[in-house]
Amino acid sequence: MLINSILVSRKQCCLAPGHCVLTFDDGPAGEVTDDLLAILHEFGVKACFCLVGCQVAIRPEQTRAIANAGHLLANHSFHHQFADLWNFERFRLDLARCDQAICEAVGEPCHPLRWFRPPYGLVTSAVREIARTRRIIPVTHFVIDPWFRSERTKRPAKWIIEDAKCREGGIYVLHDGLMVSETLRTARGSPRRCWIPDVVKEILRELTGAGFQFPDPWQVFQV
Ligand SMILES: [Zn+2]
Repeated sequence: MLINSILVSRKQCCLAPGHCVLTFDDGPAGEVTDDLLAILHEFGVKACFCLVGCQVAIRPEQTRAIANAGHLLANHSFHHQFADLWNFERFRLDLARCDQAICEAVGEPCHPLRWFRPPYGLVTSAVREIARTRRIIPVTHFVIDPWFRSERTKRPAKWIIEDAKCREGGIYVLHDGLMVSETLRTARGSPRRCWIPDVVKEILRELTGAGFQFPDPWQVFQV
């Protein structure tokens, strides 16, 4: 499977009908990520965590906990900066710094992670160049989930459940962390995302109840 775009169809990424994969971007994010790991454990589901290096550097123990729970770790850059996506060398170095942070956290010798997801899901020419040697973690359906606390936070579960039922499964993205902008960087902490674990619980309850399976992302993405 050679994919150099981020939005793909279920068939393009060889995901079997009735299969779903959940991916979580911008963490590790403290309490929200802990709660999320507990929910995933409860349902026996492995997910993919697209980690931001500067968050990994703050929370190495949590990064290790994600890895030890058997989830797939992907490189989501170190600084999560829009500007880096437009320059191959800058983006390459930023990914390398994230590799280093993740490998240090999990206690492995530094090596390039096989999977990455560009910040903002943007596939620029620099990202395409990187995708010649690393693989993009794709999605089949983007869900918008930037909200903090409001009635809108129930929407992502509804959208994902409806999409999975309509298209017989898919790869979805939610955010346990939130790297919105430079100025809001301090707002990335877990209190803002506390609704995410409940949403994930609802998705897993509904979709497993409807007979959907959540295969190990390692198996899905190595095809
Ligand atoms: Zn992101």
